[in-house]
Amino acid sequence: MSKEKKGEVSVSKFYKITDDKVERIKRECPRCGKGVFMALHKDRLTCGKCSYTEFQKEQTKKSKQ
Ligand SMILES: [Zn+2]
Repeated sequence: MSKEKKGEVSVSKFYKITDDKVERIKRECPRCGKGVFMALHKDRLTCGKCSYTEFQKEQTKKSKQ
């Protein structure tokens, strides 16, 4: 019935969002290259291999003082 079809669409939509989120978090190190992902911290990304650090300005909230 239509009820079953609706549930299927909902699931595939959820997976698409999750995949996009993961892709955004995982970032490769510009120094080490492909395969080396940077560790996500509160407001920065750090490479465990070469200690390269990249700060994130994107998520700064203007309303917060
Ligand atoms: Zn690195």
